[in-house]
Amino acid sequence: MPEFRQNMVSKEWVIIATERAKRPDNFIQEKKVKNSLPSHRADCPFCPGNESMTPPSLFSIEKNGVWSLRVVPNKFAALQSHLTTQRNREGRFLKADGFGIAEVIIETPVHNHTIATMGLEEVRNTVLTYRERYAALSKNERLELITIFRNYGEKAGTSLEHPHSQIIATPIVPPHVRTPLYQSQLACDTFGDCIYCGMMEEERRQGVRVVKETEYFLVISPFASRSPFETRIYPKIHRSSYATISDPELNDFAAVLQETLKRLSIGLNDPDYNYVIRSAPIEDTNVKYHHWYVVIVPKLTTPAGFEIGTGIYINTTLPEHCAEFLRRVQIQ
Ligand SMILES: [Zn+2]
Ligand SMILES: [Zn+2]
Repeated sequence: MPEFRQNMVSKEWVIIATERAKRPDNFIQEKKVKNSLPSHRADCPFCPGNESMTPPSLFSIEKNGVWSLRVVPNKFAALQSHLTTQRNREGRFLKADGFGIAEVIIETPVHNHTIATMGLEEVRNTVLTYRERYAALSKNERLELITIFRNYGEKAGTSLEHPHSQIIATPIVPPHVRTPLYQSQLACDTFGDCIYCGMMEEERRQGVRVVKETEYFLVISPFASRSPFETRIYPKIHRSSYATISDPELNDFAAVLQETLKRLSIGLNDPDYNYVIRSAPIEDTNVKYHHWYVVIVPKLTTPAGFEIGTGIYINTTLPEHCAEFLRRVQIQ
């Protein structure tokens, strides 16, 4: 029997279509050439020796005199930092200059690493850099929202193989971000506490969608997952923004992020994915009603007409089965 399920924060509905249910192992990817990439490419702008192909570093981490991570401005950014935040009317239409800041985090000098295969120190450098750049960008009063994300593989929208994450900071908070914030604020006004903290408590009580729990984090296949293997990592300590993550949490986050991506990579044979760190807007860095988290979306299905038309996603796989599948993956 198919069923509707509601995301308790955003109020969005999904359909879990068990009639045409697919088993989690139906999503195991065909063997790809990705695994046989070289460790260095002469024509890769992010490989060591090619630093002149990118703008100078904004931030770097070095070890024994050579860089192990670099942050550079995005040369092909959709938004540009020299513009204004001026909004204008064109007749009845509203527009604004394309002001924003876009940065690329080159996570390692090694071309063929992935988060799932790199050393834990490299993952830790990466998540530490997320916090560093978040702090630096949040000082810019013209910015409202800082989005940290990672596109992995062509289906996830990147053709650049070299391991990298991105940050885009915008002067605009769009409805897609504002609407759940508004809903969680309303819930907090009504019930007096954070709806995400309540949701985590319920997920822990039911247990069936929990992939992993560590000292500081909870990994789940959400109750109202929009697509197969949507996976979320929530901090157990209430914090509305990634900006305030502590050092012990940061260490645990590096390990839990890597382990979760390993489960997906080993279990499903290295699928393409996007992940996004969702923090509250800069001015809401310490609020009771929002709770930061990571959402990982493996690119296993394509939204079709009904999804585009209604925003109601049809998910053919039970989140409970995905969580069970991920728990069972042997990570060496
Ligand atoms: Zn490279
Ligand atoms: Zn909370």
